Amino acid sequence: MNLGGLHHVTAVTSNASLNVAFYTEVLGLRLIKKSVNQDDVSAYHLFYGDELGRAGTEMTFFDWENAGPHLPGAGMVTATAFRVPGRAALAWWARRFDAYHVSHGDITEQGGRAVLPFQDPEGQRLELVDDTGPAPAGGVAPGIPWAKSPVPAEYAIRGLAAVTLTVRDLAPSAALLTQVLGFRQVAAEEDGSGRAATFEVGPGGPGALVRVLERPDAPFRRQVGAGGVHHVAFRTPDPDEHAAWQERLARLGVGVTPVIDRYYFKSIYFREPGGVLFEIATDGPGFATDEDPEHLGERLALPPFLEPHRAAIEAGLKPIVPVTLAPKPVAD
Ligand code: ZN
Repeated sequence: MNLGGLHHVTAVTSNASLNVAFYTEVLGLRLIKKSVNQDDVSAYHLFYGDELGRAGTEMTFFDWENAGPHLPGAGMVTATAFRVPGRAALAWWARRFDAYHVSHGDITEQGGRAVLPFQDPEGQRLELVDDTGPAPAGGVAPGIPWAKSPVPAEYAIRGLAAVTLTVRDLAPSAALLTQVLGFRQVAAEEDGSGRAATFEVGPGGPGALVRVLERPDAPFRRQVGAGGVHHVAFRTPDPDEHAAWQERLARLGVGVTPVIDRYYFKSIYFREPGGVLFEIATDGPGFATDEDPEHLGERLALPPFLEPHRAAIEAGLKPIVPVTLAPKPVAD
């Protein structure tokens, strides 16, 4: 029973309109589902991904208007990396970020791959990673960018590459990853700030990487603000293996939820020992189950159990309006 890599990352925004503009226009992802948080229907749940929102390509957001700014600390996902095809793509993205006034760092090397760190408008820590570097045979298949994306396909984001967790004590988190979840440690390093270790699961390489930073003095945080990550989900192929993971985690005394049907996939949730909320989610049935693939994300999608309440739910949501993120480039 092997996890298939990263399934999705769910973060928090306090500004849905700005969030849609940034992730679709600047990053070129497709808004593949506009739904509501099933546990709090006053909030949008926005899903971005490749052309179909395939598992492994999704970044999703809860829209909590009153969320304060996110405070970094331990017990959190502290960076999310997307994969792009090649180093030339990173250089193209650095120029694009300048044009859109997106805060970004220099292109550096990490674990043998070129990385470009940047932030979304709410300070969400993101990275672009060249996924054409050394990879184990096989690897996680990249997503297929949407043909109507404003970003040319040769540079487009094609899924998640990695998440970085920050914890106060590396060993317990490493033990859960390797002894319970089937990860393999592939790198370890130490710098002035503390120890770090990188793990991969299933097919390995970009799309299946978790980096853990040990920061013993970092403040432990439970509250996720706007610009922070709520949880990270890992892939499992089908409901049978999903149920087996639930039983296994429960048997090992990991406090895991029952299987929850999220309609687009099934979910279980648990906290790893460092405090980060993990989810295991099924690859299917996916986002084209209730909408025509041509028209994903255009209207508010509700799972069947919420459909009878559509009018009230829609009335409680703020409309998503267009936001201009950068002055239009002036033609020469
Ligand atoms: Zn999730």
